[in-house]
Amino acid sequence: MPPPTLPNVTLTSNFLFDALIIGAGPAGLSAALTLSRVRGTSAVFSNNTFRNAKGHRAHYVLSRDHQPAPELRRIGREEIERYGTTRFVERGVARARRDEVAGLFEVEDERGEMWRGRKVVLATGVADAMETGIEGYEECWGGGIHQCLFCDGIEMSDLPAGVLGFESPMQLHSIGLILKMGCPGVTVFGNGSLEPMDDETRRALQVAKRRGAKVDERRIARFVQLGEREGMEIRFEDGSSTRVGFVAHKPVTRVNGRHIADGLGVEVVADGMGGDMLRRSEPFGGSNVKGVFVAGDAGVLMKSFVSAMSQGVAAGAGVANTLVGEEHQRVGQEVEDLERSG
Ligand SMILES: Cc1cc2nc3c(=O)[nH]c(=O)nc-3n(C[C@H](O)[C@H](O)[C@H](O)COP(=O)(O)OP(=O)(O)OC[C@H]3O[C@@H](n4cnc5c(N)ncnc54)[C@H](O)[C@@H]3O)c2cc1C
Repeated sequence: MPPPTLPNVTLTSNFLFDALIIGAGPAGLSAALTLSRVRGTSAVFSNNTFRNAKGHRAHYVLSRDHQPAPELRRIGREEIERYGTTRFVERGVARARRDEVAGLFEVEDERGEMWRGRKVVLATGVADAMETGIEGYEECWGGGIHQCLFCDGIEMSDLPAGVLGFESPMQLHSIGLILKMGCPGVTVFGNGSLEPMDDETRRALQVAKRRGAKVDERRIARFVQLGEREGMEIRFEDGSSTRVGFVAHKPVTRVNGRHIADGLGVEVVADGMGGDMLRRSEPFGGSNVKGVFVAGDAGVLMKSFVSAMSQGVAAGAGVANTLVGEEHQRVGQEVEDLERSG
């Protein structure tokens, strides 16, 4: 049964929204959906740069495993539109600031239109830095090169797999998962010498070798994506090549829309893996700036659809709870004033 529609509300830029939600991935959409459940209004901004933009299938999303990610977002938007309390703005955000005097937030979109809201949800996601310098890397990204082995890999586990580089003990973890999913072999491709290496990493590499991992230090000339069931080819500078089902490699990630966070004064911290993230606190994803909430990949190490959704829900609830709390504080003050005046 659809909810009764809002009387006489036009969600234009003249409207004061409960929340300005920046990002329309699973985090931003979940924040909007949660707010909609209590008639919270939101403007959701998106410049349509989704992390898994190539239309990959999303895995380990309960009840939606192996569905194309764009389809999940489409269904999500359709569900939100049912409530009539969300305005989707298909534009990037150029600037965001807090109006201290009015106690509100202002967002300027890339066409110069200004939007006002009581709270902000930053759900801008992250960008994977494609900085290996190896030809073909970007073309194979998400096809044969996988940053998360829960997301992808098992579909090609009948072929040997690869791991690109071994710069930290984290790589041993990838090797463990590759072996666990049953790949018939795993090779660490160094793209040159793996040295220098600290003691902890060397020890991890020894464990990997003991578990059967091979090391190949030939310099890589390029990655070539083969057909859907064929995996990928690694061509070396010496003219030789090898075929693998997939290669695991986790690039550094950096927060999207850093200028937005900076404009609001939201703290950006190192993520401990060479990249950065926005600092958020439990349970609602509040940031160091009162009234600004953080959700999704931009604020968490374990980046996934479901965690983005769960944080979006938390941020949506955080916005609603804060607004209700503020209203109760205001009315509480009125009650006190009335009691005092007799
Ligand atoms: C190749 C690949 C495969 C993956 N597969 C899986 C999988 O199988 N299962 C899984 O759970 N996870 C998977 N993930 C991770 C998953 O895609 C992310 O965790 C999830 O998309 C994060 O959601 P999000 O809402 O935080 O960010 P995103 O989905 O990246 O959305 C970011 C939003 O912010 C907007 N935005 C950014 N900057 C601005 C700006 N300046 N102005 C306006 N809007 C802006 C974007 O336009 C977009 O709407 C995969 C990731 C990759 C890279």
